[in-house]
Amino acid sequence: MTPAIAAIIWAIGLVAWVAIRLPYRRRARRLRVVRARRDLTERIVLPLAGIGLSVVPTVYLLTGFPAFADYRFQPWMGWAGAVAQLAFLALFYASHRQLGRNWSVTLEIRDEHRLVTDGLYRYVRHPMYSSFWLWGLAQLLLLPNWLAGPAGLVGVAVLYFARVGSEETMMRQTFGDAYDAYASRTGRIVPRIFG
Ligand code: SAH
Repeated sequence: MTPAIAAIIWAIGLVAWVAIRLPYRRRARRLRVVRARRDLTERIVLPLAGIGLSVVPTVYLLTGFPAFADYRFQPWMGWAGAVAQLAFLALFYASHRQLGRNWSVTLEIRDEHRLVTDGLYRYVRHPMYSSFWLWGLAQLLLLPNWLAGPAGLVGVAVLYFARVGSEETMMRQTFGDAYDAYASRTGRIVPRIFG
């Protein structure tokens, strides 16, 4: 494992992210939105997450900036990063498939929105956000730079903490007791182990 291979593994994650999302974005555009939360936080945190997960690392890989923050690459980091990247892609792909027409980039409820409680959603309420955390971890492990490496995790943290509460409020307003019952038996991003 070399820094160049680690960089390629990171880039494959970015390309796969766009490719997996594309059909869902297209479909979502055609479905009527009945409830949306597009507040200021949503408008700020989404671009911030995108900067941390794609712009900062892309600039780093293309230009080497910021070189002063480079540190020595260790092969084990590349291997661990590859495992995290694979886990990210598997969860990202599966959660899109299982959410199907209920998926959206921003917080939205669509016409005939169904509360998904099966597949990954049987164990966790936010498997796609679990995948984002893994993606941030993969970036940290794959890019040996004190700024470009953790930038993804910072972006994910901002997005996750700014959004997850309002997303659950929106789901509660839409699905009422059914969501409360669902929330009581699931974890947010990791499965509940103790009852
Ligand atoms: N937070 C989820 C989904 C992210 S996509 C995850 O991490 O997997 C965001 C959209 O998914 C929101 O607009 C919301 O309408 C929808 N959503 C979230 N949880 C859902 C569920 N259990 N069933 C159906 N739609 C859901």
